[in-house]
Amino acid sequence: LEGIGRDELVLHYQPRFKVDGVTVASVEALVRWRHPRLGLLPPDRFIALAEESELIVLLGNWVIREACTKAKAWPLEIMVSVNMSPAQFSRSDVVHDVAEALRHTGLAAHRLELEITENVMLNDVEGALQTMNSLKELGVRLNMDDFGTGYSSLGYLRTYPFDSIKIDKRFVQSLGKSASDRSVVQAIINLGNAMGMTVTAEGVETAEQLALLNDDQCHEVQGFLLSRPVDNDVLVQIMRRQRANTATESSG
Ligand code: C2E
Ligand code: MG
Ligand code: MG
Repeated sequence: LEGIGRDELVLHYQPRFKVDGVTVASVEALVRWRHPRLGLLPPDRFIALAEESELIVLLGNWVIREACTKAKAWPLEIMVSVNMSPAQFSRSDVVHDVAEALRHTGLAAHRLELEITENVMLNDVEGALQTMNSLKELGVRLNMDDFGTGYSSLGYLRTYPFDSIKIDKRFVQSLGKSASDRSVVQAIINLGNAMGMTVTAEGVETAEQLALLNDDQCHEVQGFLLSRPVDNDVLVQIMRRQRANTATESSG
């Protein structure tokens, strides 16, 4: 993991679309390690290891700063989402770190979203709630990632100040194959609507899944069907194209 200190980390970005599948609504930052011998490593290969030490704090802070820096320079003023490890909550002052990243990069707070899984609440229920409320006071948005994979998610949703939820890809991927998983997806969408939260479906890989999510009025979608995670240069191209299309539509 010495690569963390040697400029070997890189962020890829996966757009999140409106359920029309055309309009980019926001972008998720996903970390990779450009290993000198092993090539580009996905987060599953090194995040867990980093979480065993203080390295996760260094990595997490690097990710937030890099994501804010890049987002500040994008041609579209949309939100960037950053995944946070539960270990960052317990081992560092995330409120301070996020505030510093915003101040240092000049990104508006409402353009930063933090993706958090239920595991954050498992360690320290009270502390997590306080931290999340303070993050909300900074003006950033909070998204519950991998919704449906943990337990008692409902209780957490009511108590914690989430703005949005992301339906875990395992439910999305069996849409069209399993009637019960479609019911779960519909229930989560209804739940989100009842609580005033934006609902995203992740892991959309087929046109059929997208059509069902559209029928069920899910708000936003993300997945290989629409765009894989791409590097910042490719993302900027996607954004420029979208900006040009929007300009053409509104003038014609
Ligand atoms: P996640 O936040 O739930 O991110 C979604 C993962 O699903 C990403 O994998 C993404 O590339 C992948 N994905 C997107 N669309 C599809 C699809 O249509 N089909 C399939 N099969 N997969 C899809 P990735 O980039 O390997 O990231 C895995 C996990 O690593 C993330 O899950 C997140 O929990 C964690 N992670 C990523 N970046 C960071 C980071 O900067 N910090 C921390 N702490 N964790 C991170
Ligand atoms: Mg995520
Ligand atoms: Mg997820």
